[in-house]
Amino acid sequence: VSEFDLINHFFKTSALPRDDVLQGVGDDCALLAPPPGKQLAISTDTLISGVHFPQSTLAADIGYKSLAVNLSDLAAMGASPAWASLAISLPEADQSWLANFMQGFNELARTYNVSLVGGDTTCGPLTITLNIVGFVDEKKALKRNRAKAGDLIFMTGTLGDAVTGLNAILNKTPLDKNLQYCVQRLNRPEPQINAGLLLTRFRVAAIDISDGLLTDLNHICTASKTGADIFLNQLPLSDSLKQYYAQGDHQPDWQTISCGGDDYELCFSCDAQSADEMLKLFKAQQIKVTQIGHMTSGMKINCIDAEGKVRNLQNRGYNHFNEKQ
Ligand code: ADP
Ligand code: MG
Repeated sequence: VSEFDLINHFFKTSALPRDDVLQGVGDDCALLAPPPGKQLAISTDTLISGVHFPQSTLAADIGYKSLAVNLSDLAAMGASPAWASLAISLPEADQSWLANFMQGFNELARTYNVSLVGGDTTCGPLTITLNIVGFVDEKKALKRNRAKAGDLIFMTGTLGDAVTGLNAILNKTPLDKNLQYCVQRLNRPEPQINAGLLLTRFRVAAIDISDGLLTDLNHICTASKTGADIFLNQLPLSDSLKQYYAQGDHQPDWQTISCGGDDYELCFSCDAQSADEMLKLFKAQQIKVTQIGHMTSGMKINCIDAEGKVRNLQNRGYNHFNEKQ
């Protein structure tokens, strides 16, 4: 099986054709027609086997997650998804693996109208690099530098499931119902595209939580020259994670929850006057959103516990050049 057979079989016909793709897979470049008046939002994310997902991860989950983490970046900018190109490096031309990979990829591509328009196929250690392009209206992007002291801080969904799932896999803990849910959240994160689009109606700073809440919120703080107070007992936990801690007779491990990554929820600031209207729109679309703190004029993030004490959490999100799994 040659590289060209794989391209023709698995990548040539996009699961989702779009009118704005004038030339997709099959020529030297894709030719794309961006809508007039829109800005392009472009992002790239690489997933390396053993770094971004455990080696045991199913091909369909890897395909799904490659697209999900890229869509999450578009969500954090308030962009609507359009096109993707996929550079994939495979240890061997394993057709059943690729079929499953593309099945997971296409599942999400259909949901969010993403057309696969090109890429590159090579032989080497399993690595997936996806480039994604979306559209955003001029001046509407949810830039990180838009937060102000006094703004409220919100996040979508729940925090800490993915890291708990990952730890269970790494520690070979038997997966009960709660841990299965956490592993599902690790493998199949839901990109918050609709939340991001909704937020473009407001002047908010947003980021997607990929490296850990504290690390990612710190990026907003640095870009906006603010600090933040985060209230640990307001952090939204899933029922499964609550039960997981209750079963072990443990209090929630705030260190792990607030610094573990892979949640792919959005964290954003919103001024207090706009918050009610924003919350109404989230409710109408049935997107879970929770206030977790507020921006301050200090220059650091304080994590405050139920007793009102500042907890000394080590803000150590994942940093590729500092750690090896
Ligand atoms: P070239 O050598 O000109 O770069 P390739 O032989 O690498 O072209 O690719 C042929 C066509 O297949 C191109 O249109 C390219 O974008 C597409 N392609 C290659 N690999 C992938 C992939 N993994 N996913 C999607 N399209 C791909
Ligand atoms: Mg090539």
